[in-house]
This record gives sequence, structure tokens and C-alpha cells, in this order.
Amino acid sequence: MKPETACIHAATSIRNKSHSTGAVAVPIFQSATFAHPGFGQSTGYDYSRTQNPTVEHCEELITSLEGGAGASAFATGMAAIATVMELFRPGDEIIATDDLYGGSIRLFNNISAKNGIIIKYVDTSDLSAVQVAITHSTKAIFIETPTNPMMKVTDIATVKKLIGNRDILLISDNTFLTPYLFNPIAHGADVVIHSGTKYLSGHNDTLAGFVVAKTSELAERIHIVKKTTGAVLSPFDAFLVTRGIKTLAIRMEKAQSNARKIAEWLKSQSKITAVHYPEQGAMISFTTDTVETAQNILNKVELILYAESLGGVETLITYPATQTHAEVPEAERLSRGIDEKLLRLSVGIEAVEDIIKDLEESML
Ligand SMILES: *Cc1c(COP(=O)(O)O)cnc(C)c1O
Repeated sequence: MKPETACIHAATSIRNKSHSTGAVAVPIFQSATFAHPGFGQSTGYDYSRTQNPTVEHCEELITSLEGGAGASAFATGMAAIATVMELFRPGDEIIATDDLYGGSIRLFNNISAKNGIIIKYVDTSDLSAVQVAITHSTKAIFIETPTNPMMKVTDIATVKKLIGNRDILLISDNTFLTPYLFNPIAHGADVVIHSGTKYLSGHNDTLAGFVVAKTSELAERIHIVKKTTGAVLSPFDAFLVTRGIKTLAIRMEKAQSNARKIAEWLKSQSKITAVHYPEQGAMISFTTDTVETAQNILNKVELILYAESLGGVETLITYPATQTHAEVPEAERLSRGIDEKLLRLSVGIEAVEDIIKDLEESML
């Protein structure tokens, strides 16, 4: 099955179950608990923190799109990442991409560090730097590719080769590319994370997170942490994500095609000094000539919305220095190029001419 078809048809088990009515859209099973037919009998469902048919349908879909063995759905992307961090113990070392999503940095530096987990930030696009950082205590390498907001690309397959047969989990946050454009497991990742809030749901109307595991043993360990700590996705939000994924393929194609044109256009503008676009996906960051130009754009855009987040049908513009990366220590932030002249664009699926016109007018 091709990816476009899989987005619509990959999850089938709900149709095969006795509660199927032929409904084309997945029903929302808004039930906290499930009655047992009799002693020692079960419908397969007990309690919605452990499993729920609507959520299970969404997990099946993501598992299939990512080519994993199983997935767990969470209330948010951060809940998904926090759950993965529960696989580690005090003294374990994790090598993480230095240019990570700000929320992941906050989790690692405050909560994981307090739990005795040692995080080493490395430019994972530099393979020799990764090699030098690996020690006997390394238990995982946590990659985000392309990075946020500087769009640096890490070659997952080569990192996997560096790991060899050492007992190190390769974890990839695939939020930016989505399973439609990239499958980390096929390139050697053991765990794939998504903020389902972004492209998967795609309409800026819900929060969600996913962890997909390469093996069923790992999927089960993550499922047990999830049902124990409880930050699960609700049936209604699972429904919204499932519905969003039906159009993932056409949304990604359109957003990516818009982004390619906008990146080219930005490069030709005299007030833009650098454009970061990895030639894939629909996220662009760019640097303006002055702080005034950057702030002017934020004040003047009309169609483009000045808001955090990404991956929806509407084009959003973000100011990483005060929004997504506000909590990164200033010196570290500036050394990574995240200054007051940097803007980040999540390109939506509007007509590209309208997006460019809005940017053009905001720069006057
Ligand atoms: C948004 C985001 C997260 C966090 O997801 P939430 O759903 O906001 O909790 C994690 N990683 C990346 C790359 C993100 O963009």
C-alpha cells in the first residue's frame, strides 16, 4: 500500500470487530470503563487508561505509517517524550541533538536531570562529535531531524552504524517530517516520537503525542509506563488525529511545495540575510537584516498568524527567541544562531501567492 492510501486505510482492526456497524469514520468510544460479559471473560477492553477502541485505532494507524511494531498515544508530544524518559535510570547517559525543541530541553534539563539522567548535547549532524560522546554509560541517542529552528539534518542511518551492536536506543523525534516524508525506523531508529499536535492532526485544533517502537517488546514497555503514569490521549482527540491523518499526504505535498517556493523567494530578498530550509518538509527559518525588520514582520503580517506551534493548514510565524526557545539559556541560544533576527515559518496550505504577498507587504 502506498503512503497516501495507508493514511486513509492502514488501520482496519476496528472494522473487523463485532462492534462494527460499517461506520466509515471511527466511532468515538467515550467510555471510561468496559463491562465484562461474565467471570473470566473480557471484550478485550477494561479501562480507557489501558486501552480504548478509538485510541487503539489511531495507534494502529501510526504504527503502520511508521513501520513499527506498536505505538502508544499520549495527551501531548511532551507526555510522549516524558514517558520515553522513564525507560532510563539514574546514571544513564543520553546524547541529544543540541538544537532541540525547547520543551524537550526544558524536560531534560529540569526533570530528567533531577532524576539522575545525564544529558549530553551534541551536534548530531557531526558524526565524529557523536562518536566521541558515546561512553559505556550511554543508553540512548535522541535525535531531532531536521532540528528546530536551525534545520540541521542528522543522518540517522550513519548514527545507527556508529551504535553498532551496543545496547543504545536510537530515538528520533519525527514531528517535522512526519511518516509521509520520512520513516526513522527504516533507517535504524528504535523509537519514533511525534507531537501529533502538529502535522498528524494538522488543523491546530488538538494536542496529541505518539511513541512508536520498532519491536513489540519495546512497545510493551512503553505501554506499561503509559498506563501506569496515565497521560493518555482522549477518545475524541484520537478521533481528530485519525481524521487529520486522512489528508496528511495531500497536506504535506501542498505545504512542502509552498515552502520550496517561499524559501526561494526569501533568498532573493534584500532584507533577508539567511534562509534555513532543508529542501524537505514545510518548516523554514530565516534571519532578517535588523531586529526592527523581524519585529516589523511580526507586527504587520495579516494572513500569516503570529503564533507558536506548526504543522497546521494555516501558515504560522514564530519568534523563537521569545517563544519556542525562550527558556534556552541566552548564551547557548545565541551561540546556536537563535537571536532576535531569526523568524520561523510553518508554511500552510494556502495559495503560495497569498503567503508571499503577505510577507512582502510586511517587509515594506
Ligand atoms: C511541539 C513539539 C513537541 C511537543 O509536542 P506538544 O504536543 O506540544 O507537547 C515535541 N517535539 C517537537 C519537534 C515539537 O515540534
